[in-house]
Amino acid sequence: MSQSETPRTDISSLGEFGLIKHLTSNFLPQNSSTVFGIGDDAAVIDCPGEHYQLVSTDLLLEGIHFDLMYCPLKHLGYKSVVVNLSDIYAMNGTPEQILFSFGVSNRFSVEALEEIYKGVELACKTYEVDLIGGDTSSSKQGLMLSVTAIGKVIKERIVYRHTAREGDLVCVSGDLGAAYCGLQFLEREKQIYLESPKVQPELEDHAYVLGRQLKPEARRDIVKHLDNYNILPTSMIDVSDGLSSDIMHICNRSKTGVQLYEENIPVSREAYEAALTFNLDPMTCALNGGEDYELLFTISKDDRSKLDQIMSDLSVIGTIGAAADGMKLYTKSGNSYDLLAQGWQHMENK
Ligand code: ADP
Ligand code: MG
Repeated sequence: MSQSETPRTDISSLGEFGLIKHLTSNFLPQNSSTVFGIGDDAAVIDCPGEHYQLVSTDLLLEGIHFDLMYCPLKHLGYKSVVVNLSDIYAMNGTPEQILFSFGVSNRFSVEALEEIYKGVELACKTYEVDLIGGDTSSSKQGLMLSVTAIGKVIKERIVYRHTAREGDLVCVSGDLGAAYCGLQFLEREKQIYLESPKVQPELEDHAYVLGRQLKPEARRDIVKHLDNYNILPTSMIDVSDGLSSDIMHICNRSKTGVQLYEENIPVSREAYEAALTFNLDPMTCALNGGEDYELLFTISKDDRSKLDQIMSDLSVIGTIGAAADGMKLYTKSGNSYDLLAQGWQHMENK
């Protein structure tokens, strides 16, 4: 077939998740040890004993996922590990090992790579995981990082995305939208620097939102709290794409709808003020900002009183409903809107 006859479909016509589905739909598990493959925060592998093994991987590309003009290399190393550990926690698991791979051009020095590894080391110490391997390659241009996290979970305590039930309460840890606001400050200072390199950056006053963007943490503490109070979430995901998109993953996989209440969605004072600085709606940042790495989960209504005892850093933001009732956000003013799955890349200033 000549080139002109070869069918050509734009990747954008499928979207990220449509593309993954399209490419992988023929891959049926061939091994009984494959308990769950594609479609959750981590893959689940059977092994003898009381635990499943969990595996998750992420790819980070310079210019797409990070910008070295404002992302310190040590933070980059730290973040690249933490975002993977977050996926293991999102299965109610405990990460134990990582594999760390990079592709690097000769633009980078040994010292630069040492900085990245300092961040990797700090993440390994903080979260008590072991670096057990990886791969190293040269690249023509730019830096590429890939991290694979391996963990374990007690078989009866694994939590998937597809198991939310009608009537369950929707909960989220921490606050949302700050990482996106942090990115706005970094982008603004980058533009100022490009135009006038001598101007000193104005970032000191925005430590919280910058920290949320540059050095996120995975919510190991929440997984521990829930376990201590004997609450087993009915479903869970980590908020990487944004609350709206991630609750939609839970609902689509669980074949449910959801009602979220704007007034209960947690936004920090710092993120609220930062959003207004950039003429953004703070709630839009919380819904679509992404990269918060908080845990979004559902619990049975019966566990409400136990959840109230934890108190710290958790919000009940809605209820799982019937699929036929849709996925809705109820605003403070009493209006309701359909949730939209906007990744943070696609977000536009309001
Ligand atoms: P997360 O945001 O939690 O890291 P992703 O949205 O990246 O999850 O991935 C969703 C699911 O799709 C996961 O099970 C992941 O392993 C799978 N997946 C992503 N990319 C590919 C790919 N290129 N081939 C096969 N599976 C993939
Ligand atoms: Mg995830």
